[in-house]
Amino acid sequence: MQVIIPTPLQYEQIVGRQKRVDGEHYRLMTYVVQQPVTDGLLLYNTLTCSMVLLQPDEAADLTAQRELIDRWFLVPQENDDQKLCHQIRQMAALLKPAAKAITGYTILTTTGCNARCFYCFEKGTKPVTMTSETASKVVRYIVAHRGSETVHISWFGGEPLVNAKAIDQICTELSQQGVPFRSGMISNGYLFDADKVQRAKDLWQLQLVQITLDGTAQTYNRVKDYVYRNVNAFERVLQNIGLLIAAGIRVKTRLNVGKHNIGEMAELVQLLHQRFGADERLSVYSAGLLDEEHNAELFARRMQLEQQIAAYGFARKLYDLPKDIRLDCCMADDDGSRVVIAPDGHLGKCHHYLDREFFGHIDSEERNEAILRKFKERRADIEACVTCFYYPQCIRLVMCHTDTICTSVKQQEHLYNMREAMKYEYERYLKNENHYPDSINV
Ligand code: SF4
Ligand code: SF4
Repeated sequence: MQVIIPTPLQYEQIVGRQKRVDGEHYRLMTYVVQQPVTDGLLLYNTLTCSMVLLQPDEAADLTAQRELIDRWFLVPQENDDQKLCHQIRQMAALLKPAAKAITGYTILTTTGCNARCFYCFEKGTKPVTMTSETASKVVRYIVAHRGSETVHISWFGGEPLVNAKAIDQICTELSQQGVPFRSGMISNGYLFDADKVQRAKDLWQLQLVQITLDGTAQTYNRVKDYVYRNVNAFERVLQNIGLLIAAGIRVKTRLNVGKHNIGEMAELVQLLHQRFGADERLSVYSAGLLDEEHNAELFARRMQLEQQIAAYGFARKLYDLPKDIRLDCCMADDDGSRVVIAPDGHLGKCHHYLDREFFGHIDSEERNEAILRKFKERRADIEACVTCFYYPQCIRLVMCHTDTICTSVKQQEHLYNMREAMKYEYERYLKNENHYPDSINV
């Protein structure tokens, strides 16, 4: 047996190694995911976050591998895995130090947008644009709350580039004050041009942009329904993706898939490949539109698309294998180290709440604890959770709009992502590679 990802220190400290008991019957823990590779069988444990490789002869008789007991891949037949998971989470939460600084800022430069996608969750939100005065206050707030840490900014909107001036101002003032920062962005990509890409690289410290494509030219232009007339927005956005990756800025292309466009997505992926080749700065992945993501037929077709994406050799860094026990879902229920700043300076915990559920304002140190508690409320387990491999990594929040129900399709998607990530981690292990040192999530 070869250890590919060792057990995290935190887990070692909490439970250590499992003691072997003679005569006990062991089984795989519910949370172990198997993935065959050419050299044998990978096992990843979603609770301990460790991964091992078994040689083919070892894999043929899994429960006889005593070392798998030590590392909690095998547990006694009668073990209550869910109870163990709860106990470990509770202990890990007690040991976790409280955040001393706010280091992650999702900044909405505007809630206005130059596109009008039919599926937009922001539809109906009043457009508010950040003023120069507020941008300066944002800088003051960051300086006062970052401690001595590097700041991670995610530019969000609306369309953040509609108010690129605010980005310029915030980045200029942060640099003048000697604050180390880097940024990512969720954008439709339309408003980039050569000059902005240069500023994004030099001034905004932009590492990664997520850009959504909704189909080939005709469908894309129809779905995005930009406010501009007589332009080929699709072509312009592709040109901008080219400019960004040429400048060394990574682009994560999200293909929003629904019944209306699944038929043409293979053509789109082929087109991206013809245009950009297999460039490690360009990753491509698909996502189901919210009201269609649980459709089994669509999911099956989307997985075929994922195979095509992988076959073309696009960068695959879609989903990182968890490396630690999961204690929170996202920035909404985290330890307080990440906040959302609305265009008018209100402080929030989730970028899906653009005009309500704020817990404070950049002008004040007051915090509405009731709102913060509300964002931490979790959805109850469902019956399927008892046997679900994903349980230790699954935290679903009552306030979350994007994760309201769980279906077998959702579980299959988790499994697919997990297995892809296992293969990817293993390839990296073989090449002795590290992650991008400057990686940033948006
Ligand atoms: S909610 Fe769904 S994905 Fe999460 S643990 Fe339960 S069954 Fe698994
Ligand atoms: S949309 Fe859901 S997952 Fe995303 S930040 Fe909000 S609560 Fe978290």
